[in-house]
Amino acid sequence: MKIVIHSLLLLLAAGTYAQSPIDSTQLIKDIQTLSSDKYEGRMAGTRGSRQAQFYLMGRFKDAGLSAYHNTYEYPFYFKQGEKQIMGTNLFGYIKGRSDAAIVVTAHYDHLGIKKGATPDSIYNGADDNASGTGGLLALMAYFKKNQPEHTLIFVAFDGEEEGLQGAKAFVKQPPVPVERIVLNINMDMIGRNDKNELYVCGLTPYPELKKYVDDAVSTGGAVKVLSGHDKKEEGSNNWINQSDHYEFHKLKIPILYFGVEDHPDYHQLSDEFSGIQPSFYYQSVLKVLTVLQSADKGLK
Ligand SMILES: [Zn+2]
Repeated sequence: MKIVIHSLLLLLAAGTYAQSPIDSTQLIKDIQTLSSDKYEGRMAGTRGSRQAQFYLMGRFKDAGLSAYHNTYEYPFYFKQGEKQIMGTNLFGYIKGRSDAAIVVTAHYDHLGIKKGATPDSIYNGADDNASGTGGLLALMAYFKKNQPEHTLIFVAFDGEEEGLQGAKAFVKQPPVPVERIVLNINMDMIGRNDKNELYVCGLTPYPELKKYVDDAVSTGGAVKVLSGHDKKEEGSNNWINQSDHYEFHKLKIPILYFGVEDHPDYHQLSDEFSGIQPSFYYQSVLKVLTVLQSADKGLK
Protein backbone atom coordinates (compact mmCIF):
# COMPACT_ATOMS: atom_id res chain seq x y z
CA MET A 1 0.00 0.00 0.00
CA LYS A 2 2.77 2.34 0.92
CA ILE A 3 4.33 1.77 -2.50
CA VAL A 4 1.04 2.45 -4.23
CA ILE A 5 0.57 5.71 -2.35
CA HIS A 6 4.14 6.69 -3.04
CA SER A 7 3.83 6.18 -6.81
CA LEU A 8 0.50 7.97 -6.80
CA LEU A 9 2.16 10.99 -5.21
CA LEU A 10 4.90 10.84 -7.77
CA LEU A 11 2.33 10.76 -10.57
CA LEU A 12 0.49 13.73 -9.11
CA ALA A 13 3.74 15.63 -8.76
CA ALA A 14 4.67 14.81 -12.36
CA GLY A 15 1.26 16.02 -13.52
CA THR A 16 1.63 19.26 -11.61
CA TYR A 17 5.12 20.11 -12.69
CA ALA A 18 5.24 18.68 -16.22
CA GLN A 19 5.98 21.54 -18.57
CA SER A 20 2.98 22.25 -20.75
CA PRO A 21 3.71 23.81 -24.13
CA ILE A 22 0.76 26.17 -23.54
CA ASP A 23 0.31 28.42 -20.51
CA SER A 24 -3.26 27.54 -19.53
CA THR A 25 -3.62 30.36 -17.01
CA GLN A 26 -2.63 32.97 -19.59
CA LEU A 27 -4.88 31.34 -22.19
CA ILE A 28 -7.92 31.68 -19.94
CA LYS A 29 -6.94 35.20 -18.96
CA ASP A 30 -6.75 36.20 -22.63
CA ILE A 31 -10.16 34.83 -23.57
CA GLN A 32 -11.75 36.32 -20.45
CA THR A 33 -10.24 39.73 -21.17
CA LEU A 34 -11.08 39.75 -24.87
CA SER A 35 -14.70 38.78 -24.22
CA SER A 36 -15.22 41.29 -21.41
CA ASP A 37 -17.77 44.11 -21.71
CA LYS A 38 -14.93 46.60 -21.89
CA TYR A 39 -14.46 45.78 -25.58
CA GLU A 40 -18.12 46.37 -26.40
CA GLY A 41 -18.46 43.42 -28.73
CA ARG A 42 -15.35 44.27 -30.84
CA MET A 43 -17.21 45.32 -33.98
CA ALA A 44 -15.00 46.61 -36.81
CA GLY A 45 -14.54 50.36 -36.74
CA THR A 46 -15.79 50.88 -33.16
CA ARG A 47 -14.22 52.17 -29.97
CA GLY A 48 -14.40 48.71 -28.42
CA SER A 49 -12.54 47.25 -31.37
CA ARG A 50 -9.82 49.87 -30.97
CA GLN A 51 -9.46 49.00 -27.28
CA ALA A 52 -9.18 45.30 -28.17
CA GLN A 53 -6.47 46.15 -30.70
CA PHE A 54 -4.40 47.83 -27.99
CA TYR A 55 -4.72 44.76 -25.80
CA LEU A 56 -3.72 42.43 -28.64
CA MET A 57 -0.76 44.55 -29.71
CA GLY A 58 0.47 44.52 -26.12
CA ARG A 59 0.24 40.75 -26.10
CA PHE A 60 2.04 40.51 -29.49
CA LYS A 61 4.82 42.60 -27.99
CA ASP A 62 4.95 40.45 -24.83
CA ALA A 63 5.36 37.39 -27.03
CA GLY A 64 8.20 39.00 -28.95
CA LEU A 65 6.40 38.77 -32.29
CA SER A 66 8.43 40.47 -35.05
CA ALA A 67 6.76 43.29 -36.94
CA TYR A 68 6.91 43.98 -40.68
CA HIS A 69 7.62 47.68 -41.31
CA ASN A 70 7.76 48.40 -37.54
CA THR A 71 4.03 47.96 -37.01
CA TYR A 72 1.45 45.30 -36.22
CA GLU A 73 -1.42 47.48 -37.51
CA TYR A 74 -2.78 47.20 -41.03
CA PRO A 75 -5.89 49.32 -41.65
CA PHE A 76 -8.18 48.62 -44.58
CA TYR A 77 -11.51 49.97 -45.77
CA PHE A 78 -14.73 48.31 -46.76
CA LYS A 79 -18.27 49.36 -47.64
CA GLN A 80 -21.28 48.60 -45.50
CA GLY A 81 -24.22 49.87 -47.48
CA GLU A 82 -23.48 53.58 -47.91
CA LYS A 83 -21.00 53.66 -45.06
CA GLN A 84 -17.26 53.34 -45.40
CA ILE A 85 -15.79 51.40 -42.47
CA MET A 86 -12.17 51.18 -41.42
CA GLY A 87 -11.06 47.76 -40.22
CA THR A 88 -7.65 46.91 -38.80
CA ASN A 89 -5.81 43.63 -39.19
CA LEU A 90 -3.05 42.96 -36.70
CA PHE A 91 -0.13 40.78 -37.65
CA GLY A 92 3.52 39.94 -37.27
CA TYR A 93 5.78 36.94 -37.69
CA ILE A 94 8.26 34.53 -36.18
CA LYS A 95 11.14 33.86 -38.49
CA GLY A 96 11.65 30.24 -39.42
CA ARG A 97 14.65 28.46 -40.87
CA SER A 98 13.10 28.93 -44.30
CA ASP A 99 11.16 31.72 -46.01
CA ALA A 100 8.24 29.45 -46.84
CA ALA A 101 5.36 30.66 -44.70
CA ILE A 102 2.47 29.24 -42.73
CA VAL A 103 -0.21 31.81 -41.90
CA VAL A 104 -1.98 31.20 -38.59
CA THR A 105 -5.21 33.16 -38.25
CA ALA A 106 -8.17 33.99 -36.03
CA HIS A 107 -10.63 36.87 -36.28
CA TYR A 108 -10.90 39.08 -33.21
CA ASP A 109 -13.92 41.10 -34.28
CA HIS A 110 -17.50 40.30 -33.38
CA LEU A 111 -20.99 41.80 -33.56
CA GLY A 112 -20.75 44.84 -31.27
CA ILE A 113 -23.74 46.09 -29.31
CA LYS A 114 -27.37 45.14 -29.85
CA LYS A 115 -29.55 48.24 -30.05
CA GLY A 116 -32.31 48.47 -27.46
CA ALA A 117 -31.43 45.27 -25.62
CA THR A 118 -31.56 45.41 -21.81
CA PRO A 119 -29.95 44.78 -19.41
CA ASP A 120 -27.24 43.05 -21.43
CA SER A 121 -26.65 44.50 -24.87
CA ILE A 122 -23.08 43.41 -25.60
CA TYR A 123 -22.23 40.62 -27.96
CA ASN A 124 -19.20 39.36 -26.05
CA GLY A 125 -18.28 36.74 -28.64
CA ALA A 126 -16.37 34.59 -26.16
CA ASP A 127 -16.39 31.52 -28.34
CA ASP A 128 -16.78 33.56 -31.55
CA ASN A 129 -13.96 34.38 -31.61
CA ALA A 130 -12.12 35.44 -28.47
CA SER A 131 -11.37 31.70 -28.27
CA GLY A 132 -9.46 31.53 -31.55
CA THR A 133 -7.70 34.81 -30.81
CA GLY A 134 -6.51 33.49 -27.43
CA GLY A 135 -5.30 30.37 -29.22
CA LEU A 136 -3.36 32.56 -31.64
CA LEU A 137 -1.59 34.29 -28.73
CA ALA A 138 -0.75 30.95 -27.10
CA LEU A 139 0.68 29.53 -30.32
CA MET A 140 2.87 32.56 -30.97
CA ALA A 141 4.26 32.34 -27.42
CA TYR A 142 5.12 28.68 -27.99
CA PHE A 143 6.88 29.19 -31.33
CA LYS A 144 8.81 32.21 -30.10
CA LYS A 145 10.50 29.78 -27.69
CA ASN A 146 10.71 26.90 -30.19
CA GLN A 147 11.92 28.17 -33.55
CA PRO A 148 9.80 26.83 -36.41
CA GLU A 149 11.04 25.53 -39.77
CA HIS A 150 8.64 27.78 -41.67
CA THR A 151 8.21 31.44 -41.08
CA LEU A 152 4.98 31.69 -39.11
CA ILE A 153 2.80 34.72 -39.75
CA PHE A 154 0.22 35.28 -36.99
CA VAL A 155 -2.81 37.31 -38.00
CA ALA A 156 -5.72 38.61 -35.93
CA PHE A 157 -8.32 39.52 -38.55
CA ASP A 158 -10.87 42.29 -38.30
CA GLY A 159 -14.21 42.41 -40.14
CA GLU A 160 -14.81 38.67 -40.43
CA GLU A 161 -18.40 39.16 -39.33
CA GLU A 162 -18.94 41.69 -42.16
CA GLY A 163 -17.98 39.19 -44.86
CA LEU A 164 -14.37 38.09 -44.29
CA GLN A 165 -13.21 41.67 -44.92
CA GLY A 166 -9.92 41.37 -43.05
CA ALA A 167 -8.94 38.18 -44.84
CA LYS A 168 -9.83 39.75 -48.20
CA ALA A 169 -7.59 42.74 -47.42
CA PHE A 170 -4.77 40.49 -46.23
CA VAL A 171 -4.61 38.28 -49.32
CA LYS A 172 -4.77 41.38 -51.53
CA GLN A 173 -1.63 42.79 -49.88
CA PRO A 174 0.14 39.99 -48.06
CA PRO A 175 3.44 40.74 -46.28
CA VAL A 176 5.18 38.00 -48.30
CA PRO A 177 4.51 36.85 -51.89
CA VAL A 178 1.46 34.57 -52.02
CA GLU A 179 3.56 31.82 -53.64
CA ARG A 180 5.50 31.49 -50.39
CA ILE A 181 2.40 30.74 -48.33
CA VAL A 182 2.14 26.96 -48.07
CA LEU A 183 -0.70 26.69 -45.53
CA ASN A 184 -3.33 28.63 -43.63
CA ILE A 185 -4.42 27.36 -40.22
CA ASN A 186 -7.54 29.18 -39.05
CA MET A 187 -9.25 29.00 -35.65
CA ASP A 188 -12.82 30.21 -35.23
CA MET A 189 -14.85 28.94 -32.24
CA ILE A 190 -12.69 26.46 -30.39
CA GLY A 191 -13.79 27.11 -26.80
CA ARG A 192 -16.69 24.79 -26.03
CA ASN A 193 -18.48 21.66 -27.14
CA ASP A 194 -20.73 19.41 -25.09
CA LYS A 195 -19.57 16.34 -27.02
CA ASN A 196 -15.86 17.21 -26.69
CA GLU A 197 -15.56 17.33 -30.47
CA LEU A 198 -13.31 19.66 -32.41
CA TYR A 199 -13.62 19.63 -36.19
CA VAL A 200 -10.80 20.04 -38.61
CA CYS A 201 -12.08 21.13 -42.01
CA GLY A 202 -10.04 21.07 -45.22
CA LEU A 203 -8.90 17.49 -45.69
CA THR A 204 -11.40 16.80 -48.48
CA PRO A 205 -9.99 19.50 -50.79
CA TYR A 206 -6.45 19.00 -49.41
CA PRO A 207 -6.04 15.26 -48.67
CA GLU A 208 -2.24 15.66 -48.73
CA LEU A 209 -2.54 17.36 -45.32
CA LYS A 210 -4.05 14.30 -43.67
CA LYS A 211 -0.70 13.01 -42.42
CA TYR A 212 -0.22 16.16 -40.37
CA VAL A 213 -3.58 15.78 -38.68
CA ASP A 214 -3.18 12.10 -37.84
CA ASP A 215 -0.96 12.81 -34.79
CA ALA A 216 -3.59 15.03 -33.23
CA VAL A 217 -6.24 12.40 -33.88
CA SER A 218 -4.23 9.46 -32.56
CA THR A 219 -2.84 11.08 -29.40
CA GLY A 220 -6.29 10.79 -27.82
CA GLY A 221 -7.01 13.10 -24.90
CA ALA A 222 -10.26 14.62 -23.76
CA VAL A 223 -10.94 16.36 -27.06
CA LYS A 224 -11.73 14.29 -30.11
CA VAL A 225 -10.55 15.71 -33.45
CA LEU A 226 -12.95 14.88 -36.27
CA SER A 227 -12.44 15.57 -39.95
CA GLY A 228 -15.45 16.95 -41.81
CA HIS A 229 -17.68 19.83 -42.84
CA ASP A 230 -15.73 20.28 -46.05
CA LYS A 231 -17.72 18.55 -48.78
CA LYS A 232 -19.77 20.37 -51.43
CA GLU A 233 -22.78 18.10 -50.91
CA GLU A 234 -23.00 19.17 -47.24
CA GLY A 235 -24.54 22.51 -48.31
CA SER A 236 -24.63 24.93 -45.37
CA ASN A 237 -22.81 22.35 -43.24
CA ASN A 238 -19.84 22.76 -45.54
CA TRP A 239 -17.67 25.25 -43.67
CA ILE A 240 -15.09 25.86 -46.41
CA ASN A 241 -16.54 29.31 -47.17
CA GLN A 242 -17.66 30.19 -43.63
CA SER A 243 -14.65 31.89 -42.11
CA ASP A 244 -11.43 33.64 -43.11
CA HIS A 245 -9.66 30.53 -44.44
CA TYR A 246 -11.97 30.78 -47.49
CA GLU A 247 -9.96 33.69 -48.90
CA PHE A 248 -6.83 31.50 -48.84
CA HIS A 249 -8.69 28.54 -50.31
CA LYS A 250 -9.86 30.75 -53.21
CA LEU A 251 -6.18 31.31 -54.05
CA LYS A 252 -5.60 27.54 -53.87
CA ILE A 253 -3.53 27.90 -50.70
CA PRO A 254 -4.15 24.75 -48.62
CA ILE A 255 -6.19 25.38 -45.48
CA LEU A 256 -7.02 23.67 -42.22
CA TYR A 257 -9.83 25.23 -40.25
CA PHE A 258 -10.53 24.30 -36.62
CA GLY A 259 -13.92 24.91 -35.06
CA VAL A 260 -16.89 23.42 -33.26
CA GLU A 261 -20.47 22.86 -34.39
CA ASP A 262 -22.89 25.68 -33.59
CA HIS A 263 -24.23 25.92 -30.06
CA PRO A 264 -27.37 27.75 -28.82
CA ASP A 265 -25.30 30.84 -27.91
CA TYR A 266 -23.84 31.19 -31.41
CA HIS A 267 -24.24 34.85 -32.51
CA GLN A 268 -26.30 35.55 -29.38
CA LEU A 269 -25.74 38.02 -26.54
CA SER A 270 -25.21 34.93 -24.38
CA ASP A 271 -21.93 33.88 -26.05
CA GLU A 272 -20.09 34.86 -22.89
CA PHE A 273 -17.01 33.77 -21.00
CA SER A 274 -19.17 31.81 -18.54
CA GLY A 275 -20.08 29.45 -21.40
CA ILE A 276 -16.46 28.63 -22.24
CA GLN A 277 -15.32 25.17 -21.14
CA PRO A 278 -11.74 25.85 -19.99
CA SER A 279 -10.55 22.27 -20.19
CA PHE A 280 -12.02 21.75 -23.67
CA TYR A 281 -10.57 25.07 -24.80
CA TYR A 282 -7.08 24.31 -23.52
CA GLN A 283 -7.12 20.82 -25.05
CA SER A 284 -8.31 22.27 -28.38
CA VAL A 285 -5.40 24.67 -28.53
CA LEU A 286 -3.04 21.77 -27.78
CA LYS A 287 -4.57 19.86 -30.71
CA VAL A 288 -4.06 22.80 -33.06
CA LEU A 289 -0.48 23.05 -31.81
CA THR A 290 0.12 19.35 -32.53
CA VAL A 291 -1.10 19.81 -36.11
CA LEU A 292 0.88 22.99 -36.62
CA GLN A 293 4.07 21.37 -35.32
CA SER A 294 3.57 18.40 -37.58
CA ALA A 295 2.81 20.50 -40.69
CA ASP A 296 5.73 22.77 -39.91
CA LYS A 297 8.09 19.79 -39.85
CA GLY A 298 6.60 17.96 -42.81
CA LEU A 299 5.65 20.59 -45.40
CA LYS A 300 8.23 21.81 -47.87
ZN1 LIG B 1 -16.35 33.53 -36.06
